Amino acid sequence: MRFSKLRLNGFKSFVDPTDLIIADGLTGVVGPNGCGKSNLLEALRWVMGENRPTAMRGGGMEDVIFAGTATRPARNFAEVSLQIDNSKRLAPASFNESDLLDVVRRITRDIGSAYKANSKDVRARDVQMLFADASTGAHSPALVRQGQISELINAKPKARRRILEEAAGISGLYARRHEAELKLRGAETNLSRVDDVIEQLA
Ligand code: ATP
Repeated sequence: MRFSKLRLNGFKSFVDPTDLIIADGLTGVVGPNGCGKSNLLEALRWVMGENRPTAMRGGGMEDVIFAGTATRPARNFAEVSLQIDNSKRLAPASFNESDLLDVVRRITRDIGSAYKANSKDVRARDVQMLFADASTGAHSPALVRQGQISELINAKPKARRRILEEAAGISGLYARRHEAELKLRGAETNLSRVDDVIEQLA
């Protein structure tokens, strides 16, 4: 899967619809301090399912919505769409219908986030898994924010291991294992309840 276009609308400083074309080879983004370069990287993380406001340099998730300036009112929603070239059909089966995969995340004030893939409603988890399995998830080491290199150098072995697991594309498996363990625990609780009922009836 190859990212081909990032579109922002009302996301942080990008109040008007803005396209970032990601062509073959290296794409560089240059500009003066505060022009929004880091906001682009955050938009990429966000559309892939990032849910930690701190990773967005905010106090709450709604902080990603354009907050207004002296001349422009605040917006009520923010939307980021990521176009992915899927001509090699590398996306998981449920996303693998066409050559182009368009993943959209929209957040509306007081309502929250919703995701779509090729115009169909999908769950946050499906989008997170899609990118985790492709080793490009919101926590991917391929996305390097300011100060992250020194954090990595000073990181404890456990934190470093998490980065290696993400790079190896196995973090999606961990998330699935965690879900399976929760289900197993639920089933064990139900079983012990059944045992109690049987005991009472005996
Ligand atoms: P630097 O080179 O200094 O790191 P940068 O180009 O990476 O800067 P960003 O940090 O991406 O710039 O952008 C910061 C700008 O985004 C600031 O001007 C800030 O006011 C603006 N901004 C952040 N969140 C919002 C928001 N919710 N609404 C409007 N503007 C916002």
